[in-house]
Amino acid sequence: MTAPLADALAAGLRVEIADLGDWAPARLVSEYDPRERTIRVNERALARAEGSGGEAARDALFAAAVAHELYHHAVGGAEGGADAFVRERYGIDPARAASVLRR
Ligand SMILES: [Zn+2]
Repeated sequence: MTAPLADALAAGLRVEIADLGDWAPARLVSEYDPRERTIRVNERALARAEGSGGEAARDALFAAAVAHELYHHAVGGAEGGADAFVRERYGIDPARAASVLRR
């Protein structure tokens, strides 16, 4: 289990893989629903990642997405601080994880 997923489950959140649509070029990867305490990761983004970088790229994107949404849950802050949170807490480079979506 990746650290972000373990933390999300330990925090009592639900983590789902769901079809969030394809909003290219915005490329919605994930969302956090605070009312339902649920993180949803876009199955379309995961499929794109797997298509360009294989299972490792899919897993990396999933971990980065869950970590990103944990930022919204734990910190509740604006988008600006999310990347630093993901890097510092989990050692994940969000730009690198997302780069497979641009291939
Ligand atoms: Zn965000």
